[in-house]
Amino acid sequence: MYPTLQPSELRTRILECRACTVRPECEKPTPWWPRDTPSEVMMIGRNPGINEDKQGLPFVGRGGKVFEGWLKGLGISREDIWLTNLIKCYSAADRKPKQAEINTCWDLHLRRELAFCRPSLVVALGSESFTATTGLDKLSLRHGMIYDRLTEIGAFVLGAIHPGSAMRSSVYLDMMVEDGNTLKPLLPYALSGQLRESGLPPGWEAK
Ligand code: SF4
Repeated sequence: MYPTLQPSELRTRILECRACTVRPECEKPTPWWPRDTPSEVMMIGRNPGINEDKQGLPFVGRGGKVFEGWLKGLGISREDIWLTNLIKCYSAADRKPKQAEINTCWDLHLRRELAFCRPSLVVALGSESFTATTGLDKLSLRHGMIYDRLTEIGAFVLGAIHPGSAMRSSVYLDMMVEDGNTLKPLLPYALSGQLRESGLPPGWEAK
């Protein structure tokens, strides 16, 4: 495990990073987290889109509105969670990041965010994030379920449909709503530290 860095140090490292092939495609890396203190709940998307790259802000535009509405339905705002991405740089034409780029950014940055935040619950938004945190594929068949695969830090993982997918398809939107229904009763339990202290509540089972 790396030494724990503070958010200002993490942010500087990310802004100065040129470690992988996606960096020349973006204006600048986007170190997102709307808070500077750890949260028991971390949500991880894939990487910034063109609007996020230009504005330097997370989940803006139409996908951002879907995400905000989803959080509102969960009774939280983005300041309650540690919101981040697998990859901190925009990839041109929204291409899917290469596995090597995901691995590099995880090792250099996300691993340190995890060390600082120590979340007990990770919500993996979208396929790439789900695969990176659980080692599993086929999110569309596995979303809304709890996994105990992020053993590195002892966090449970819930795979959820990404707002960008929900924005483009009513089927995915319905699936994202289902994920929210699953997550809603677990969130206050996790945010209060009970998930860390006592594990999953009665009736819940990790895959
Ligand atoms: S994607 Fe991550 S590892 Fe690659 S250049 Fe950007 S910040 Fe660095």
